[in-house]
Amino acid sequence: MIKLFNVELKKKLAFDLFAVITSLILMVIASFSPIEVAPFFWGFAFFIGGIAKAIEGFKSTIAEKSLNVEFLMIAASLAAFITGEFAEGAILIFIFAVSGVLEEFANSQSEKALTSLLKVAPRTAIKLVNGVEKTVEISQLEVGDLVMVKMGQQVPADGKVFKGSASFNQASITGEFLPVFKNEGDSVFAGAINIDASLVIQVTKDPSESVVQKMIAFVKQAQEDKTKSELTITLFEKIYVYFVILLSISVIFLPPYLGWLGQEEAFRRGIIVLVVASPCALVASITPAVLSTLSHAARKGILIKGGKHLEKMKGINIVAFDKTGTITSGKPKVSQWTVFSEDTSQIEDILVSIEKKSTHPLAKAIVQYFDKATVIDLETKEIPGQGLIATIKKDTWKVGRFTYQEEQVVEKQLKVIKLKGHTMVYVIKNEKLVAVITLKDTIRPNIIEAMKAIKEFKITPVMLTGDNQATAQLVASEVGIDKFYSDCMPEDKVKVIQDYRKEGRQVLMIGDGINDAPSLVSANIGVSMGDGTDVSLETADIVMMNNDLRNIPYLMKITKKMNTIVLQNVVFSISVITLLLVTNLFGLVDLTYGVFGHEVSTILVILNSLRLLKSK
Ligand code: ADP
Ligand code: MG
Repeated sequence: MIKLFNVELKKKLAFDLFAVITSLILMVIASFSPIEVAPFFWGFAFFIGGIAKAIEGFKSTIAEKSLNVEFLMIAASLAAFITGEFAEGAILIFIFAVSGVLEEFANSQSEKALTSLLKVAPRTAIKLVNGVEKTVEISQLEVGDLVMVKMGQQVPADGKVFKGSASFNQASITGEFLPVFKNEGDSVFAGAINIDASLVIQVTKDPSESVVQKMIAFVKQAQEDKTKSELTITLFEKIYVYFVILLSISVIFLPPYLGWLGQEEAFRRGIIVLVVASPCALVASITPAVLSTLSHAARKGILIKGGKHLEKMKGINIVAFDKTGTITSGKPKVSQWTVFSEDTSQIEDILVSIEKKSTHPLAKAIVQYFDKATVIDLETKEIPGQGLIATIKKDTWKVGRFTYQEEQVVEKQLKVIKLKGHTMVYVIKNEKLVAVITLKDTIRPNIIEAMKAIKEFKITPVMLTGDNQATAQLVASEVGIDKFYSDCMPEDKVKVIQDYRKEGRQVLMIGDGINDAPSLVSANIGVSMGDGTDVSLETADIVMMNNDLRNIPYLMKITKKMNTIVLQNVVFSISVITLLLVTNLFGLVDLTYGVFGHEVSTILVILNSLRLLKSK
């Protein structure tokens, strides 16, 4: 019902609150005034309380070309006024306005939490200062600066390609999913994601605007996105409003025509029908609950891009974890460095120069380990889930998980190294294995606890990794995962998820890397770690800013709570409507009771939902 955001939302909330209070004061004055002037004050209270809702109702009636709850309420209270029931008319509008203020409150709370979360999101760029890479806040970039954009990273500001070339995914800006190739001199947009090779761009536009714009759009989308049940209710509201009008008209005209009731009594009951049958409480059953839950999660450090993802949580029965950077901290340490050929220092230099072009956690660890290496200027191509390829003076170098021509002496040594179960990165020169570096990552804290809690929800955890079988086995058993898939290319991860879905299971996938992006999209719900790459943050439905895997069982818990509260609300509001309608048919309800029952139920439903803001 509410579609306002940011400053606008705050202004509206303040205005509506002002209207509600003024209207309350006027009503108090009215009830103490002598009979002759009281209607004037009631009327004034009615006008002040109702004007905002009337405008809102009028606008959305025109926009959606259909009548709505606002229309019913205004009609009912106008009718009350015509029949001389001034107080009832004013009170009806007053409480309707109060319920509006409460809804806006829920909305503003969730927005506040979401925006504050986005402010802490790491938003940095790699600036080149005299050829040296320096990580800076995006806000510190200026027009003319040179920035390095590596594979998987987002272009930090609008600019043009200065050196190198790469393909970009510009879907977040243009909505077009096909990658676009950009060469030197071509312009690139902030937010475009580099999908294959690192390159240097020159900033051509102040970055602050575009980033802020994107953040606002992000939050806006989260709130605007309707859940399936919200959509159902909205559709229901549209149809049901006509039913109420029809019912009310028939109650007014039919009984007198058939000689059952006098005209006046029939009119009175008809107006009561208009009030009590209005689906205000039903319409308010879901949205505040969803917004409160979004807000609660946001304060915990979980950014959910829309209530519809919460709704899908209920059906999840598989949680698929990526390994590197998700189960493990993504801050691996080099454990062993073995060179199989003579020119050790040259290999070190080349390895570091190649890995410098990558944002992969392994690459960062390797660069850090060889801090004395001399960096050579070269161009690389990165293959997600495998590693990098570079050509240096006619030699082809591959770093990562690639095949090579096996040699007996080398394989013997490798076998011993493999036994440790550490992550292996091969250095291959022209199809020959010249060195291998092994790395060991630490497991994220709290994961064992999280895994236990996930299993308690009868959900099967599985692990998908591009790493080798031995490492995968070790990590899986350490954290309590029974089923894992190792040596996965990005498309293999997608395949695993698709197979599960074909079996009718619903999958939540958590990942951090560019190699996880396709699987995040193919899962029912995609979750990204907050310190993941831009592309995974962008494609995910949920971002865990705090990088805590206990968020998964926590999300299960709060969505369960949300569903319970929504169910309570729906059952309660339908019961109240039915009860009031039936009793009114027998003439047992007067307008005051009708207004009271109807409006109190609406407010109770919203207050019930606001409990979710505070729940533990
Ligand atoms: P995970 O699926 O567990 O997150 P990745 O798919 O990111 O792991 O990586 C799988 C394997 O690919 C690594 O174990 C490593 O051997 C290799 N690899 C990928 N990217 C790189 C890189 N930039 N440098 C070195 N090795 C890499
Ligand atoms: Mg990963």
